[in-house]
Amino acid sequence: MPDRIYFDHSATTPIDPRVAFAMTLPNGECYGNPSSLHSEGRQARDLINRARAQVAGLIGATPAEIVFTASGTEADNLALLGVFRFANGDRLGHMITSSIEHPAITETCRFLEQNGVQATYLPVDEHGVVDPDDLAKALRPDTRLVSIMAANNVVGTLQPIAELARIAKEHGALFHTDAVQSAGKVPLDVGQVPVDMVSMSAHKLHGPKGIGALYIRSGVHLQPLVFGGGQEHGLRSATENVAGIVGFGAAAQLAASDMTDEAVRLVQLRYRLLAGLQEVLPQAYLIGHPFKRLPGHLCLGFAGQEGESIRLLLSLDEAGVAVSSGSACSAHKASEPSYVLLAMGFDAIRARGTLRVTLGRFNTKVEVDRFLEILPQAVNSLRPVASYAGFTRS
Ligand code: PLP
Repeated sequence: MPDRIYFDHSATTPIDPRVAFAMTLPNGECYGNPSSLHSEGRQARDLINRARAQVAGLIGATPAEIVFTASGTEADNLALLGVFRFANGDRLGHMITSSIEHPAITETCRFLEQNGVQATYLPVDEHGVVDPDDLAKALRPDTRLVSIMAANNVVGTLQPIAELARIAKEHGALFHTDAVQSAGKVPLDVGQVPVDMVSMSAHKLHGPKGIGALYIRSGVHLQPLVFGGGQEHGLRSATENVAGIVGFGAAAQLAASDMTDEAVRLVQLRYRLLAGLQEVLPQAYLIGHPFKRLPGHLCLGFAGQEGESIRLLLSLDEAGVAVSSGSACSAHKASEPSYVLLAMGFDAIRARGTLRVTLGRFNTKVEVDRFLEILPQAVNSLRPVASYAGFTRS
């Protein structure tokens, strides 16, 4: 689609052409089953080994600590269910998570709760940050797992993962982080940060869809969700998605090699967009943490026009710009208030009024400037639906 502006990188990212190129081999001549002993099989196995090392390299892990899954969602499920699955009733115990996790975590928690696990959902402040003191207070003798996301998909806020993980570990609980939004954008070194498990997904870092990974620290034991031929250290049986894995490896390597420069570039674009926006649309306000956020992530509200975000999104789409009104995963619930914003203390009307603008590798200043021309027209064409006396920007 020529001339369109794609600003929805938290939903998914376009595949980098270098990743697509790397995938031509397993999609074509290198078609062997990696479990086969012949040359074709060994060739495919070599490709997987290389990709596993590339994904491990992104977070400072060893290749043996990476398990490929079908998605970030599956990685999250494996982390949580893998800890609690089939534990004896008296060993079920307790877990802690935050109130703003992705449904891949919250729905899994609900399932665990229905099956006897007790769960605590930590609150967040007005920027969407979990207070480490709240974690320290919520830990119990039977807390087996803490799962807090590294970066939030709706508002972009980064959590103090190093501190949260240290507190959980000191208490003897396992620590998992859903790093699906932050992997490849914000550094995470498992040699420095005492996390036990990390979920990642290739399609958020210019890789293919349908492939994720769970880092599992050596010595941590999980129960599998999928049984069969014993692939992926017995934790995820199934003939491997070789092309997806190779694409994930290539995407991880590209992200790792360019992470700092790309983060600086995206932060500059983000500031340009926000500064420009506040000049042309004084009613615009930023949601989430002012600077502890994903480099290319902006979550915006428009005072007095909350509740109109779907119309705004559609009008921008018509004008050639793809943005989101929140999380792509909840597009079918788009008119409902966001539970993330409600947890941050927004009232039900303001919690419906977000526009998520997320920038990525191929976005340019020219596109940002073009967006700054298009957006005011779209916003000003909406009728005011609510007014907020005494409203202050966050
Ligand atoms: N976790 C977070 C924070 C996400 O943003 C997403 C997707 O948006 C997921 C998990 C699910 O990842 P996947 O789309 O690979 O299943």
